[in-house]
This record gives sequence, C-alpha cells and structure tokens, in this order.
Amino acid sequence: MKKLNILLQRWYFPVSLKYVSLIAYIVLIVTGLMAYSTDAAFLKQLRNTNLGNLIVWSYWWPAIVIGAIFFGRVWCMVCPVELITTFFSKIGLKRKRPSLLISGWAITVFYIIILFIGIQGFAIHRNPFFMAIYLLSIVGVSIIIGSIYEKNTFCRYVCPVGYLLGLYSRLSFFGWRVKDKSICDTCKDKSCIHKKYQYNLNYKSCGVDLYPANISDNADCILCAGCLKTCSKYQSNPNSERPNPRFQNIGFANDLFQLKPLRMAEMVFVLIVSGFVISEIWSEWNVTDAYLSFLPDLIIKPLAIESKFLSGILKGTIIFAVLPFIVWLLPYLFTRLAGLTIKFKDYLLNYGIAFIPIIAAAHIGKSILKSTSRIPYFEHLSDDFTGIATAQQIIDGQITLQQNPVWINTLVSLLLVGFMIIGIWLSIKVVNRLNLRSGIERSSKSYYLIPIIYGGIFLIMLMVWRWF
Ligand code: SF4
Ligand code: SF4
Repeated sequence: MKKLNILLQRWYFPVSLKYVSLIAYIVLIVTGLMAYSTDAAFLKQLRNTNLGNLIVWSYWWPAIVIGAIFFGRVWCMVCPVELITTFFSKIGLKRKRPSLLISGWAITVFYIIILFIGIQGFAIHRNPFFMAIYLLSIVGVSIIIGSIYEKNTFCRYVCPVGYLLGLYSRLSFFGWRVKDKSICDTCKDKSCIHKKYQYNLNYKSCGVDLYPANISDNADCILCAGCLKTCSKYQSNPNSERPNPRFQNIGFANDLFQLKPLRMAEMVFVLIVSGFVISEIWSEWNVTDAYLSFLPDLIIKPLAIESKFLSGILKGTIIFAVLPFIVWLLPYLFTRLAGLTIKFKDYLLNYGIAFIPIIAAAHIGKSILKSTSRIPYFEHLSDDFTGIATAQQIIDGQITLQQNPVWINTLVSLLLVGFMIIGIWLSIKVVNRLNLRSGIERSSKSYYLIPIIYGGIFLIMLMVWRWF
C-alpha cells in the first residue's frame, strides 16, 4: 500500500492510465458501431463475438463490480469519462449545481432511464451497436454536465456507474482516508480543497465536494488522488507528514457496518438494483427464466401490446420495481403483524442497507458466470474484431465453440454459492446490529426475513441449478 501511495504522488499516475483507458474506450465504441444488427438470432452470437460488446459486458463490467466490492471505486481512478468531464468543466460555464442534482434523484432517474430504455428497450447489453451508443451517450452527458456546472458534477451527482460502485464499496477492505486528522486541523494551506487548484487537470483540489479529513466512507471519493498531490505539492510550511490523504486498509465491510441509513433517492436506486440482479441471475437458467416472465406475461399478454419497446419497458417495470417492492414489503408487514410500529419510510431507509451485501453477492455471481462462459469466444477474436463473420460461421456450423473444462464449472458453482452465503451472512449481521441499535427485541426478528427471503431467492435457485 505504501508503494501505491508513493506512486500516487507522481504526476503521471493515475492520469496516464486514464489516457490508456480512453483509447480502449474509443476502440470498443468503434467496434460496436461497426456491428449493426437487429436480427435476434444473429445477435445471440454477435454479442459474444464482437470485441466491444464482449469486453464491455463480460469483462469490463464484471471487473469494475468485483473491484468495487473488494477495493472501492478503483474503476473511477482510471475512468476516461472523469478526464473528459473535468476538461469540459475547466472551459465551461461553472454554474452552481441545482438541488435536484445534489439530492441524488438525478442519478436514480438516469439509472432508471438506462435500465428501462437502454436495457429493456434497446438491449444495450446484447446489441453491440446500441452498447456503443450507450457508451457515447455517457460521454455526451458528461460533456454537457461538465460544460454547464462547476467542479466535477458528473462523477459525484450524475454518473450511475460510480454511484453503484459507491454502494458496493461499502463492503470494501480499502478506502481513501487521512493518516492523521490533527495534521489537517492545523493545516493553513487546505490545498486539498483550495479554489485555486479546482480546475487543474492533475494536481487538483477535490472536485467532488469532499474534505479528506472528514471522509468516513467510500461512497463519493473517486480516488483521483488530486488531494494527495495538492497536499504534497502546495505546502507553505513544509511538513514531512504530508501528504496526509492516502489509500489505506479500513477493514472488511467497514462502511456497511457503520449502518448509515440510505437517502430516499439512494433507497429507490437500491430497490431497483435489487430487482435487476434477480433478473440477471434468474435469466441464467431456463427454468427460473420462465418463472421470471410469468408475472409480466400475466399482465402484458391480456393488454396485447404489439410494440416490443413498450412491452419491454412494462416488463422492466414489473421485474425491476414491482417484484422487488413486494420482496422489500414482506418483512415490514410481518414486523407490523408482530406488533412493531416502525414507519414504512424508516424501515426502507434503515433496513434497506441489509439488501446491499446480497445484491453485491448476486452481482459477483453474475460477473463470474459471464466472464467464464465467454472464454471459448476469445480464440476467434483476433481474426474478426467486429464479430460479424464469426457469428455467421457459428450459426452455419463452420465454427464449433470449445466447452469449458469441468473443473471451471465446478469452481464457478462453488464460488456462486459461497459468495451468496457470505452475502446472506453479512445481511444477517446488519439486521442484527440495526436491531440492537434501535433497542427492539423479539418482535424485530421479522427483519431477518430480509436475508431469508431475498437471499433465499438466489441461494435456492443457485443450488438447485448448479448442484441438482
Ligand atoms: S489533506 Fe493536506 S492540504 Fe488538506 S487539510 Fe489535510 S494536510 Fe492540509
Ligand atoms: S477526496 Fe481526494 S482522492 Fe477523493 S475525490 Fe476528492 S480529491 Fe480525489
């Protein structure tokens, strides 16, 4: 860790990595744009043979999710979009942010748009062309937000990817903190938050409204190391103990066990993600995939909606919002039946955090499934980056994909179940601590229905699917 913090003081780190990822980002977008198709059968192969789509959804996305769960928002450290939005905020209008942005609702709405219109409407996770359009849209929004608002508004108040990673980083072993708060207390420079350095591109004060000495969780820090660099470079009275901010070990799930309640916008975000991961895991097995469609079909079929786009959005609403709402509601109803009179809003905001470790475990599971199941496609990538010819050859039977060895499948099964058990165990611990904190005893046992019901949705499915 010491070496990493020394490296973070250098001018070229992590900014050089952002340029590398910017080049990779452009290449992935271009390969996606070169593979336009709307043929559902063809897309089934193309999504795995196209370089852009394969890397983005089967390797990049799983890597940043797993990275956040274990190390915090490390993706943000190398994210090219941060570079772009920072540049535009330097030359832009620098307007104050409206309260809608600061409240967190903008992120939740942006996420809902991506999920309902992007995923359900345009299948951005399965169609390389629309995946590229999605990546371009993220860049476009970051440019617009950067050009209008002050500092780094996009990364803190608009980007749903960073927000999701911030949620998962509640489980992380590592975080950005200061070594010694007393150094900051007596520091006259405050270069880490000084206006003068706000629009520097590298040695910059914090653009996401954090004061390093007050950081107590991983949610908002984008690990840009700007405060570390300014703290080190701009010292009126040289102090060998500076730079004070650093990346350090904070202990497993440190943020989660702080039991900080969710804000309303954050709770809605978590609720929707909790539905999203059910669909991600259940759609992996055809038996549960059929169950997943049962409730939406029940409602959509009688309506006879012809538009695929509209029925996709309606299906998304049921799976990502209605279904998880029922799951969240049940423990509360049982608690009320047991005689407790907690307000529904208080339950959602406080006990909502008990869903996070199970959501994270499901997301790790999906990541493992995706990245391992796509290994056989790699050997065909070097000949055909767009994947069009390869997809056709697979459909025509000219290419037969290798199967993964049995030991990989066994390992995947063990990991899926193992991570889910850890997620449920963490959720039980969270409920236990929340109950202790609020001093409620026996009747509060109903809150354990959160890990039991929500964890059970995944654990039972995974065990039956993978082991029986
Ligand atoms: S982080 Fe550095 S610059 Fe900021 S207050 Fe602390 S010692 Fe001063
Ligand atoms: S606290 Fe430091 S590392 Fe974190 S976002 Fe602000 S400047 Fe970057």
